[in-house]
Amino acid sequence: MHDACSLLTTPTTVIDSVTLDLVSDREPDAWSRVEASVETIVDDGIDELFQSLRIPSVSDDPAALRESAAHIVSVLERDGWLTEIAVFDNNPIVMAQIGSSVSNSADLIFYGHHDVQPVDPLSAWSSPPFEPVIRDGRIYCRGAADNKGQFFCHIFAVRALRRALGAVPIRIALVLDGQEEAGSRELPAFVESRRARLEGARLCLTADGPTRQEKRPEVVFGVRGQLRVRLRIRTAATDLHSGNWGNLVPSAGWRLAQVLVQLKGNDGRVTVPGFYDGVVAPTQLERRSMRDMAFDLDEAARSVGAVSLDGPADADPLERLMFMPTFTVTGIQCGHSEKATIPTEAVAHIDVRLVAAQDPAAMFALLQAHLTKIAPDALLEFAGGYSPSRTPMETPIATAVIDAVRTGFRAEPLLVPCSGGTLPDSVFALKLRVPVLDVPYAGRDQRNHAPNENMRLDHVRAGSRTSAALIMQLTGR
Ligand SMILES: [Zn+2]
Repeated sequence: MHDACSLLTTPTTVIDSVTLDLVSDREPDAWSRVEASVETIVDDGIDELFQSLRIPSVSDDPAALRESAAHIVSVLERDGWLTEIAVFDNNPIVMAQIGSSVSNSADLIFYGHHDVQPVDPLSAWSSPPFEPVIRDGRIYCRGAADNKGQFFCHIFAVRALRRALGAVPIRIALVLDGQEEAGSRELPAFVESRRARLEGARLCLTADGPTRQEKRPEVVFGVRGQLRVRLRIRTAATDLHSGNWGNLVPSAGWRLAQVLVQLKGNDGRVTVPGFYDGVVAPTQLERRSMRDMAFDLDEAARSVGAVSLDGPADADPLERLMFMPTFTVTGIQCGHSEKATIPTEAVAHIDVRLVAAQDPAAMFALLQAHLTKIAPDALLEFAGGYSPSRTPMETPIATAVIDAVRTGFRAEPLLVPCSGGTLPDSVFALKLRVPVLDVPYAGRDQRNHAPNENMRLDHVRAGSRTSAALIMQLTGR
């Protein structure tokens, strides 16, 4: 289904045309030259980022996505990257490579995405969503932080390294998904098709998402996976008159509620047998990191005006957020409000976040088996899934990433064992067996997915310094 791939630009060779001898370039001031270079590169490159931001590459707009991919490729080619746009089922994925290496495959993969969320509600934006503007040191635009402003940092970093040092000392692959916001359905097929150029990488780094605290950057070691399902109930072939049929045929709304309440206990635990299988308790190091995060559940609840709490109350809140699966009803559809009919179809949309060794297909089978027992009239439909990903905090390459973030952001990073959210990290982690780490370059208040999305200009600089420092770290410089 995913093999309809076309190459718009064919790579001719995978060797950087301006590779220089690096061993001779080990001056102690190499980093200060790179650092200075980042400053001017970012100032000069903002226009290119703005051009990218003006393209409204919402995930369901194939024409805008193609335009977006073509623009990014033009920027990359000017910098000497070898590029291709691989179109998988309307998803134009940009793949670019640069740098020298003894191996033909990448040493370092940067994953990001050039699709963006829709802009609704338009009236809540202070300036037009696809016209980037700088206010108070921040770029405001849809995609400014999620994710164009973040992946442009990798482009700026490579440009700065080449300007300061004359070469990119390792082989880098940049993979920019065109449908991350729509579930990255084609990414596994894409990665499989480019396996020879990606496998064997020492690290895949994703710069996406906001940080938890405004003042501290972070390194995130994992993401939860996700299974999305629809639970459908039909109680008759057609809607019925509520007077003529009331007390005879049930409303699908009632029936759906009866099924849903059987799936979660009052203690916040999901009652589906096997639901918590595959959960792995935090290691000592992960527990220590959680203590460093100093998460205050009461304060967090107050900050969002929560009137009640969810999840197993006997478990630590951060453990619930990072190490346990969730079961969330994200929407319910049934009936026509005040019309006097018995609605005979109801659907609950359910989002299950997965952890550790859990897998969307296995979780779907568990739910289905349980529903067959307790509610044979319920129909469960698969609506999408991602596997979780977890990189052990002891992974040696993490030291290089932590150092790079410390250098780039000039602050001590918070080490986060796992994000509560989901990214397609598992595609690289499971398919290629490459360690994946996430480093959000955007701040806590980037307002991703919301009106007035923004990215701080000093975070663009810090992110660019981080990518540059990481590349130098991986070459031992
Ligand atoms: Zn997003």
